Amino acid sequence: MHSLRVGTALTAVLTRGVDACCRGASAYGASGLPNVINNESSSSATAYHPAADGCPETLATRISDPTTSSSSLVALVEYVKRFPTQLGVPTASPQPLVGHRGLGPSSVGCRFEGVLPLWSLGAAPLMSPVSVSHVRHLGTTTNLDEAAQAAGLNKVAVSADVLSRVKDHGLLHTAGFIGGKWADVASDKSTFEVRNPATGAVIATMPRMRADETRAAIAAAHAVLPQWRLRPAKERAAVLRRWHDLIQEHKADIAAIMTLECGKPTAEALGEIASGAASVDWFAGEAVRVCGDVLEPPTRDRRMLVLKQPVGVVGAITPWNFPMSMITRKVAPALAAGCTVVLKPAELTPLTAVALAELAERAGLPDGCLNIVMGDAAAIDMFYTGHELVSSDTVRKLGFTGSTAVGRLLASGAGNTVKRISLELGGNAPVIVFEDADVELAAKGIVASALRNAGQTCICANRVFVHDKVYGKVAEAVTSLTAKLKVGDGSETGVTIGPLITPAALEKVTGHVADAVSKGAKLLFGGAKPELPQPLAGGNFFVPTVIAEATIDMRCFKEETFGPLIPLFRFQSDEEAVLLANTTEYGLAAYFYTRDLARAWRVAEELEFGMIGLNEVAITSEVAPFGGVKASGLGREQSKYGLAEFLDIKYVCMGLGYSTA
Ligand code: ADP
Repeated sequence: MHSLRVGTALTAVLTRGVDACCRGASAYGASGLPNVINNESSSSATAYHPAADGCPETLATRISDPTTSSSSLVALVEYVKRFPTQLGVPTASPQPLVGHRGLGPSSVGCRFEGVLPLWSLGAAPLMSPVSVSHVRHLGTTTNLDEAAQAAGLNKVAVSADVLSRVKDHGLLHTAGFIGGKWADVASDKSTFEVRNPATGAVIATMPRMRADETRAAIAAAHAVLPQWRLRPAKERAAVLRRWHDLIQEHKADIAAIMTLECGKPTAEALGEIASGAASVDWFAGEAVRVCGDVLEPPTRDRRMLVLKQPVGVVGAITPWNFPMSMITRKVAPALAAGCTVVLKPAELTPLTAVALAELAERAGLPDGCLNIVMGDAAAIDMFYTGHELVSSDTVRKLGFTGSTAVGRLLASGAGNTVKRISLELGGNAPVIVFEDADVELAAKGIVASALRNAGQTCICANRVFVHDKVYGKVAEAVTSLTAKLKVGDGSETGVTIGPLITPAALEKVTGHVADAVSKGAKLLFGGAKPELPQPLAGGNFFVPTVIAEATIDMRCFKEETFGPLIPLFRFQSDEEAVLLANTTEYGLAAYFYTRDLARAWRVAEELEFGMIGLNEVAITSEVAPFGGVKASGLGREQSKYGLAEFLDIKYVCMGLGYSTA
């Protein structure tokens, strides 16, 4: 993906490394292949002088060769990782490592800035002398790709696009995170690709983990649980606050990663980061406020207490549309409560998740408190990560955000081990504009809500019901606001509508528009893919679309579009509006616009949804309970109610052995 660029950089740094040292390991097998490839290891570290061996030249020739592939370089660094004890690494006179952390004391004498994180080296011990000995060997190997393959190493890399947009390459792990260690090769060595939805280009290759890794992650979370839960809440809060501060410090990099992998415009990515960081900060505050009760006993011979204790190991499964905030709203309260976590981020957006884990590690979160496994959702079988989390007896709570179909599967699976579960599922949110509404405010709210993240949020306005008397005005205002939006690559200034996440998502919104038009809806704006220059022509873009005269027989009434479509329905009475709004299996968020106080109360109470926005669509907040009713889910996230989901109640009855009456 970027061999030339990296090759050049690596040449420079390794040559510096060669100059800086004169000791290394004799790390070859009889065949001349490095031991990692021969699958044999030597325990002797012998003195090695690169100059005598002509090593620097060989190294420079090989690594600066533009055909040198990333897997060859993976082989090189993997070798270094696997044989740290053979390195004969100098421990005195360390030179500072620029821009890196976690390389350990054995990394003295080298400067790998901008290079090592590409291969997820994490905290692996690294140094120059061994690179020298190994690279000398690479110089004698005719086919580096074959060598890497023979070593069982997969290509694990990020694209040049990612490298150029993200400053701190230490955030770019192409790996899971288990027990404080970055795991960049899956047990069966399989991988999956992450694509930029704006161009369709592959931006990273990640290890596709399976049951082995999930079990290891659960075991790591379980092992550290006794320690973490007993840490004073104040200390847990301090770690969370440091995490929050680091997230804020790195928000530009996180936003760049997020936009690359999920397509949302930078401004929205920054908004999500602010909201995710706010959750971390808020739960840090709540950690120290967890408290039980002392009850008034019915007799004086006893005392009755209620303790609040962490539920234990938590499994978290998150979606791609909010690659950060769906994680922080689960992980932050879990850690605050004293739980430990195994996170499975969406396979479409794993890079944001690993960046967050990197920052959590830098914040001082102990190894094993937050683990990440990643893989796809091709099927539920005994190897499937979600399945492991569900069926494990050790995992005591599962937090999930995603589709209702998967939520149902998880809920039924969780029944077998009787674990707690919170589900935040589909939405199909209605907006009702009553005849007394502030039309301008309502139009702004409709567009903001329906088109946020290109319509891909579970609380996006999906069905807009407008009173007959204001229908024309609302339609005009909504269309005019929609027409002002700019479609394009989310990282470009001024772009307000990014791509849809996948070609399938694009197909769905296209299908909804075609279905509505075929049944008599009027296209007011949009309705097609935009004309965009390369490389965006390969992206999943759709022009934000407004349709009038939508009716209940259309797919856009019955299903969540999850795309940039605003269908306008008509109604004549309050009863009709509420009935239409409630005619869905979902019950997450609903919005309505009115200036009538009595109507406000009545409608708020009649709508069968977990969250109501009255004259307001920006309802999400770390202090407010987020969640739904009916097929939209169970439990609540955020707020004190969200924290309670991670705490078990224990009742203690203390017999005194005498009566104080
Ligand atoms: P979406 O349609 O928003 O992608 P999904 O429910 O398919 O929603 O995915 C949300 C999260 O659930 C992702 O992390 C995905 O990998 C995971 N997931 C998908 N299918 C399953 C499943 N059968 N079991 C467990 N997790 C799943």
